[in-house]
Amino acid sequence: MPSDTTQTATPKSHRPKSTASNTQKSSTQSSADQRHNCPICSMAMSPLYSIDRFSPALDIWRCPSCGLQKNATVPTDLESLYSDDYYSGQSDYSYRDERKSEEYHDIVWQARLKTIAKTHRPPGSFLDIGCSFGGFVDAASRFGYRAVGLDLSSFAVEEGRRLGRDLRQGELSLNKFGRNQFDVITMIEVMEHLPDPLTAIQCICRWLKPGGLLVIQTANFLGRQAIREGQNYHYYLPGHLHYYSSRNLSTFLGNNGFVDFHLYRGVDFGLLPKLKKMRGQWKAEKGSKVPLGRLAATSMYHLKSRIAWRDFALTSSMVLYARKGAL
Ligand SMILES: [Zn+2]
Repeated sequence: MPSDTTQTATPKSHRPKSTASNTQKSSTQSSADQRHNCPICSMAMSPLYSIDRFSPALDIWRCPSCGLQKNATVPTDLESLYSDDYYSGQSDYSYRDERKSEEYHDIVWQARLKTIAKTHRPPGSFLDIGCSFGGFVDAASRFGYRAVGLDLSSFAVEEGRRLGRDLRQGELSLNKFGRNQFDVITMIEVMEHLPDPLTAIQCICRWLKPGGLLVIQTANFLGRQAIREGQNYHYYLPGHLHYYSSRNLSTFLGNNGFVDFHLYRGVDFGLLPKLKKMRGQWKAEKGSKVPLGRLAATSMYHLKSRIAWRDFALTSSMVLYARKGAL
């Protein structure tokens, strides 16, 4: 059992506002002079990049054994990253507020739920960690699950509750939920935000029923996209604290009670829902048809994501499914 049983649950998708003039409002704890040990294999990590398009620069360290990367420029107050400024586009990097276009996000949420239901059909208990306003929680409820959400942001949780959603605010801690409580737990673009991944996975393993499903979407740093772009890769952001790969994330989960891995390259649903969402959202926001070039680029990225073999992948998008083993 971990000695420190708390961990932050943080919002999911976001967009960077990564100009050189940006400054981080919260104080930071730049640890270039400190040693960092890998949470996956305990090896001493080494400095890799100092990314100076942010201020302060992001100090990225890398594990020489498993390749996990860590952002050592960690804000001392993580919740300060997820104030209402984060949701209104006013902070240094921001969340794409899905509330105005939930009907279009719902197209891909329903497509993802269909994939989940292939092995874990509703009714069942469902937890979305880093739920933000709870749009995906609402989609899962309508799909037939008993769904709840957890998020660090009191702003997002209060807004979501106002819409009647069952959302809990706070950190990931072992006693937040009961042992063997959930059939499905999702973390969509959340894993990279967590400062203490080991405690997070131990919490999730405790809350899932044996055989329960864990879904993690994050970037794959073994993908050619991340390797080719190096420190210019857009996934490097102040709130992203760890950067995984398909290989080390599977190892990490395997070391902590998970089995039966299924790796989706790109996303865990087809191209059509993605295009439908894009078309609807574009029309709602811009009042015109989405340009053919945009549709073609999205389609091309989706197809390129499927070009993968073992550890090789052309893009750096992935969704990993794993089941909790019998402990
Ligand atoms: Zn490592």
